[in-house]
Amino acid sequence: MKNSFWYIIILFLFSSVEIFSQNDKPNIIVIFCDDLGYGDLGTFGHPTIQTPHLDRMAEEGQKWTNFYVGASVCTPSRAALLTGRLPIRSGMCSDKRRVLFPDSKGGLPQSEITAASQLKKADYYTACIGKWHLGHLPEFLPTSHGFDYYYGIPYSNDMDRIKDIDRNEAFGNSKIEYFQVPLMKNSEVLEQPADQTTITKRYTEEAVRIIQNKSNHPYFIYLAHSMPHVPLFRSKNFEDKSLRGLYGDVIEEIDWSVGKILDALRETGQDKNTLVVFTSDNGPWLTFDQQGGSAGLLRGGKGGTFEGGMREPTLFWWPGTISPGVIMQPGTTMDLFPTFSSLADIEMPEDRIYDGYDLTNVLNGVGASKRQEVIYYRGTKVYAYRLGAYKAHFITKAEYGNPEETIHNPPLLYNLNIDPSEKYNVATENPEIIERIKESITKHKKSIQQVENQLEIR
Ligand code: MG
Repeated sequence: MKNSFWYIIILFLFSSVEIFSQNDKPNIIVIFCDDLGYGDLGTFGHPTIQTPHLDRMAEEGQKWTNFYVGASVCTPSRAALLTGRLPIRSGMCSDKRRVLFPDSKGGLPQSEITAASQLKKADYYTACIGKWHLGHLPEFLPTSHGFDYYYGIPYSNDMDRIKDIDRNEAFGNSKIEYFQVPLMKNSEVLEQPADQTTITKRYTEEAVRIIQNKSNHPYFIYLAHSMPHVPLFRSKNFEDKSLRGLYGDVIEEIDWSVGKILDALRETGQDKNTLVVFTSDNGPWLTFDQQGGSAGLLRGGKGGTFEGGMREPTLFWWPGTISPGVIMQPGTTMDLFPTFSSLADIEMPEDRIYDGYDLTNVLNGVGASKRQEVIYYRGTKVYAYRLGAYKAHFITKAEYGNPEETIHNPPLLYNLNIDPSEKYNVATENPEIIERIKESITKHKKSIQQVENQLEIR
């Protein structure tokens, strides 16, 4: 009797240690779409795209309606998320070449600390699945930036287009063989061209495999979907499924993917110990007409500094920990680095400037976001600045083509709470707000140091 008492006590202690070690550090999954618009999900109001899994994720978690990215195009936006810093600080933005291309020789410098490198300090297993676009030479790949594992494409899915296919054919009647983009595993090419019809499905299988295999070890999965960046592809099961046509099919497959990931977490009992964040790198690519998404009631899209280019439909999910609701306070992808550091109990590096804020209080429902400002860079210039509800545009420029900049003096001023569509300029009524914004920009610019431009190295 006495022996069995001690046996039970010892068993209890061991199981407590096991529970403690599992709960000590949460798993973190970031699902990062490519060119998804603010208005493209059911839960953000799209009338004909069905996203039941994302809708459920929103109901069980937090839906952020004022969440931003660090730039309105792929490469700088990804650099901002992974480093927690504006791309101007890492040299990952340019006024000449907006993103990295297959002929680029630059990439995210080794001196930068990615969220993966940071989480490795707490012994996380780290995986990058999907589109990288922070340098495809060996020294810049995910496995050189803190990721234990990489499975995906090194840059955009429309790059490496074969020469004799014109643009209309390539994007109007897209075929896999038109785009010689490689699919890589760590630093090896697995397949070229990547079979993009099954790519969302295969990324999902990779993520689910890690969730199932690593249930006793904290992990960070950065799942950066290649879609819905044109050319659009989806697997057989999603062909002609959506009322929204091809673009809707693609989003509905991403929604399916989210469902598979959340189901895998629930089935393995990790849902109470895993933070899942869903967002996108920039707004919809409007020049592709019906193949581009929608920013809903927001003005503009990918490539520009109106809201549609940089405000993204964003969800945080962690049942039992996150206080569910709609969050209207501002947040950005640069806040993820300090938030993840806080959740994993890792000190923030002190040798550099960060542009993010720890959001854990907002997630837990016990405090407000410290963020008051959003800085809208285009390349290396500050085009616009949001302070509280007000956003001032000092420079505007059409998203694509090669237009001239328009300088605004006084700046255009919009109250984003009242006028999220940026239609009604209230500059003349609010000179003191413009002055405060100008002071904030002056202060911000003093914090910027010159670094080598990585996007211009060829
Ligand atoms: Mg993009």
